[in-house]
Amino acid sequence: MNYVFSTTGQRVYQKGVCEMNILLFGPNGSGKGTQGTIVQKTFNVPHIETGVIFRENIIGSTDIGRRSKEYINRGELVPDDITIPMIMNRIRTNFKSGWLLDGFPRNLTQAETLHMALEKEGINLDFVIQIVLDRDTAKTRIMGRRLCGSDNSHPNNIYIEAIRPAEKDGKLVCRVCGCAALTMRADDQDEAVIDKRLSIYFDTEAGTLAAVNYFKTRMQVIEVYGLSGVEDTSKNLMKVLVYS
Ligand code: AMP
Repeated sequence: MNYVFSTTGQRVYQKGVCEMNILLFGPNGSGKGTQGTIVQKTFNVPHIETGVIFRENIIGSTDIGRRSKEYINRGELVPDDITIPMIMNRIRTNFKSGWLLDGFPRNLTQAETLHMALEKEGINLDFVIQIVLDRDTAKTRIMGRRLCGSDNSHPNNIYIEAIRPAEKDGKLVCRVCGCAALTMRADDQDEAVIDKRLSIYFDTEAGTLAAVNYFKTRMQVIEVYGLSGVEDTSKNLMKVLVYS
């Protein structure tokens, strides 16, 4: 991790040289993607978003895209034999220079695999963070999510005041760039699919909360409450990253 101390004793991160390894957990809709983008912009830490990598593969009709599409559309986890090598290869390129992992690990096997690989390489996890949000709020937020057609790092949500799309000529447009092509993710349009994804997080025995607990028994997992909206959540997250 690269930082200097200011005259008042605060840690100040140096943009461009900051190296932190962060795991970001949270149910779908808790704002992991939005917060991950903010962390990337603030500290220049590469934001590795599993779901985005899958969607890029689907758009590009790659082998991974073809093999993962049906699972994603059904709201199931893509099998580990596809997901684990894809993400491990991706983070190996940044192994030593910092990353924020969002959407991985999502089950116990993935947690164990990642943890063992990091130990083998002698790499520390600097922060494991869990954005805490209840299931009903998460579901509402997923249903309100809108994608900007020109840049997927522009978050828009019709149910979150801070990132509500703008309006132009009576139509909703991206609040950041004004792009009129606001769409919904295929897997955000079906309530049963949303419920299944949230169930993998909250209910599945060896699912995502089991992965969180795996780390809780080994290190501090810092909880950040996600109910308070984008800005407050981000302020709380920054406090953790700067002062912990
Ligand atoms: P997300 O964009 O994080 O909501 O992820 C979208 C979908 O990609 C999920 O519902 C899963 O089908 C798949 N996916 C994302 N991350 C993982 C993972 N770590 N393991 C398996 N499947 C994943």
